[in-house]
Amino acid sequence: MVEKFNVIVIGSGTGGAGCAAILASAGLKTILLEKNPVLGGRCTSYTKTVNGEKWIIDKYVHYFCRCEKGPFGKILEKCGEPDAIRWFHPTFENPPLGFLDDIPIGAPLPPFLQPSNMSDLQRATGATDEEMSGILKVFDVIFSITKRKSHALDDIEFDEWVNSLVSNQKLLYILHSLCIMMNVHMPFSIEHKGKVYPGASAGDSIRNLSKWFKAGNTGYPIGGSIAISNGFANVVRKNNGIVKTNAKIVKIIVDNYNKIIELDDGTQYEAPIIVSNAGIKETVLGLVGEDKFPKDYIKRVKELIYSEGGRDYGVVSLKIGVDKKLTDSPVILVIPQSLSFREILDFKARDVVPDRPGLYYITIPSNMDKSLAPPGMQLINAIGPCAINSKHLDDWIDYNLRAVEKYIPGVYEHKIFIDITVGDNIKEWTGRFESDMVGIAQSVGQVGKNRPKPETPIEGLYIVGADTGSIGIGTELSAQSGLETAELILEYVKSHPDKVKIE
Ligand SMILES: Cc1cc2nc3c(=O)[nH]c(=O)nc-3n(C[C@H](O)[C@H](O)[C@H](O)COP(=O)(O)OP(=O)(O)OC[C@H]3O[C@@H](n4cnc5c(N)ncnc54)[C@H](O)[C@@H]3O)c2cc1C
Repeated sequence: MVEKFNVIVIGSGTGGAGCAAILASAGLKTILLEKNPVLGGRCTSYTKTVNGEKWIIDKYVHYFCRCEKGPFGKILEKCGEPDAIRWFHPTFENPPLGFLDDIPIGAPLPPFLQPSNMSDLQRATGATDEEMSGILKVFDVIFSITKRKSHALDDIEFDEWVNSLVSNQKLLYILHSLCIMMNVHMPFSIEHKGKVYPGASAGDSIRNLSKWFKAGNTGYPIGGSIAISNGFANVVRKNNGIVKTNAKIVKIIVDNYNKIIELDDGTQYEAPIIVSNAGIKETVLGLVGEDKFPKDYIKRVKELIYSEGGRDYGVVSLKIGVDKKLTDSPVILVIPQSLSFREILDFKARDVVPDRPGLYYITIPSNMDKSLAPPGMQLINAIGPCAINSKHLDDWIDYNLRAVEKYIPGVYEHKIFIDITVGDNIKEWTGRFESDMVGIAQSVGQVGKNRPKPETPIEGLYIVGADTGSIGIGTELSAQSGLETAELILEYVKSHPDKVKIE
């Protein structure tokens, strides 16, 4: 006898878990299935014990935009559980620190951006007043453009747009860094194995920056990255839903309106509504199968390109445990000033470590939630450039470690352990076809009206997660999709009560 639900959610990433929380709290009988032993997908943490002491370490994600003021908060509001996820926010007394190579530029992230940042920028870059007026225009557009007008820039690459306003190369590197950090996609098109990959969309980047800057909020979930999906999953359980880990779906069987999913151990579940967080390509081409969809839909799905992480723009993530508190900062951001992103790509393509600083995003999670490291110790999470499939991984690790040592002196001397995650194998964790960091790229041709939608040609089958997120950065994009997909499903349930009823 196959157990029946109103809704089956495949995958517990931010989008899947968030969507499941809303649906369960709306009274639908919901099951959330995750193939990994822990929840969260790319937004997760693991526990490590060293000398009998416990560390909670982010597997990938570093830092979060908008937090409770964005879709994470809106999901929990809908569930009537606003406190299921709690956030740390840095203060003006101890804000994130920014550097242009090694020149400090004050706090570079919202809400800490101040007019003084502009004078710091001018001093550090040596830009003229006229050149500075270009970057001010960029910020002016970000703060004042309407959503409708931003869509007119959807088909323009971010690099082309900023180049039309800014001529100073060092200022351009700063804007490129913002784009790469947000979208994990190049601001310009690049060729890879004979195929051209369009750059990040200017319109989409502007909308994301605008939302983020206006919300004036950045932060980190108490409990580490995994606290987000755990928070959502607790809402599912509280509403009589089921949450299962180590539950890998191998097949979605669609027979007319009926849908059955099959796990790798042969278990089957049935539901009229299936929500897949496994990826649009992976669900359509893999779990369901091409023959179940119209040809033009399959063509479109095949054409979609992933964000970077495993193609040209590789990264290495170092999680460093130190036996002493070495810094008070919650976040340190280093923006390259002597190396363009085209040059960084070239170094990576040749698998040669650059001779100058790259883009480093360093968070100190235990300064945001001290329970993540043992008392008196510190956890540092640094992400920086690395060639894909490098034959010289030790050199890249050393290059990144030297950078961390420069901004947090004492790391070498005080390190207890260094865990290393290389971008190349993200797909082993996510089950996706590529090791992309964010989801389907927010690039020209894939945003605005061209963004893949949660609905599919199969009635009752939805795709949730960053792949179908309409706006936002990383996890926020995925949570936004969780919110919008749940709203679509609730509308569907309202208008088709007979179809969703369990016999
Ligand atoms: C190194 C790195 C750093 C990042 N830094 C940030 C950051 O600082 N801030 C930020 O906001 N974002 C960051 N991101 C991006 C962010 O992590 C992703 O955009 C977001 O987590 C994607 O969420 P998702 O729900 O779309 O997909 P995923 O997180 O990939 O979730 C999909 C889930 O589905 C499960 N699944 C797949 N197939 C099956 C199956 N067959 N059966 C059952 N389960 C299945 C997977 O195991 C996974 O748990 C980073 C990503 C990486 C890789």
